[in-house]
Amino acid sequence: MRPSKIYFEPSVLDYALGKQLQDKYQDIEWVPIESHNNIEELRTKSNTEFVNLKHLLILGTRKTHKYSENYKVSDYLVPYTSSGCTAMCLYCYLVCNYNKCSYLRIFVNREQMMDRLIKFSEKSEKELTFEIGSNSDLILENTITNNLPWTIENFLKSKKGNITFPTKFNMVDPILNIDHKGRVIFRMSVNPQYIISDIEIGTASLRHRIEAINKMAEADYKVGILIAPVILLDNWKELYSEMLDMLVEGLSEKMKKQMFIEIIFMTYSFVHRKINNEAFPDAIELYSSEQMTGRGMGKYTYRPNIREEGEIWIREEVERRFGKDKILYIS
Ligand code: SF4
Repeated sequence: MRPSKIYFEPSVLDYALGKQLQDKYQDIEWVPIESHNNIEELRTKSNTEFVNLKHLLILGTRKTHKYSENYKVSDYLVPYTSSGCTAMCLYCYLVCNYNKCSYLRIFVNREQMMDRLIKFSEKSEKELTFEIGSNSDLILENTITNNLPWTIENFLKSKKGNITFPTKFNMVDPILNIDHKGRVIFRMSVNPQYIISDIEIGTASLRHRIEAINKMAEADYKVGILIAPVILLDNWKELYSEMLDMLVEGLSEKMKKQMFIEIIFMTYSFVHRKINNEAFPDAIELYSSEQMTGRGMGKYTYRPNIREEGEIWIREEVERRFGKDKILYIS
C-alpha cells in the first residue's frame, strides 16, 4: 500500500521506526498533527470521503496499554502496533470504535509495547496467549513496517507465552523462515469469494488466503481458520458450501491435521449502515430488518431462530468435511 498522505505526531521521528518510515516515504506529503486520536480536518469529513480516508496513513505513539481479558484463542487482547486498516470490509468492527476514522494508524513505540508484553507474560504463573491483532491486520501492517518478524523474534526472547493474530491477507513470506518455536498462532479469516469481492473490499482472494494458510502450516506454525463473519445473504448455503469445498480441496493434509476452526456470525450496526449507504451506495445491503434484531448500542445481530438455523447448518457441513473435533467455538 502506498499512502496518499501521511499525518504524523512529530514525536514519532524520535523513534527508529518513525525515522525508517520517514526515509521510506520521503516523496509523500507529511502533515504534522497534535494527536492521532483527534485530527479535526479528517473527523469532520463527510462519510462519502470514507474511501479517500482509507488511503491515508497516520503515525503516532500508543499511550494507553490496557489489556482486556479474553476467553477464546487468547487470554488477553493486547493493544499493539496499529489500529485500523486500508481495507474496507463493510462490516469492519473497527468502524464501531473509530467511525469513518478507521484508517490505518501505526504506533512507532513498539519497544515499549514489547517490553510491557514480555514483563506481563513472564510475571504470570500460567502460560498465557496474547491476541496482538485485534485492532488491525498485522500481515497488512507488516508490508509497511516489517514489524512482524521483529515482533516474533523479540517476543521469543521471553521465557514463556504465545502470541496470536488473525488476518485477511496473504503476504506471509517475510515470516516463513523465522524460528517461531511453536509460540505463534496464525489465524486466517475466510469467506466465500463472492463475499470477499463485494463485501471484504481490498482484502486477499480466497485462493490466495488458502495458499498462505498452507505456507504457514508448512512452516510449522500453529494455524487456525476463522470462518468470520458468517453473513446470511439470500444464497448463503450455496456460498458457504462452495467455500467449504474449496477448503477441502485446497488445504494441505498437514494443515487439515492440525487446524482448528472458529466460527463467528456477523454483527452489524447503525454506524456501518450510515457510512456504507453514503460511501458505497451500490454495495450489498447487509442490514435486514427481517433477519436482524437490535442488541443495544446501535448494534444488530441475527435473530435467535435464524442464527440457530445457521449454526446447526454450518456445524454439520464443517463436521461432515473436516471431522467432529475441529470447531473450537461458534459465536
Ligand atoms: S481487514 Fe480486518 S481490519 Fe481491515 S477492514 Fe477488514 S475487518 Fe477491518
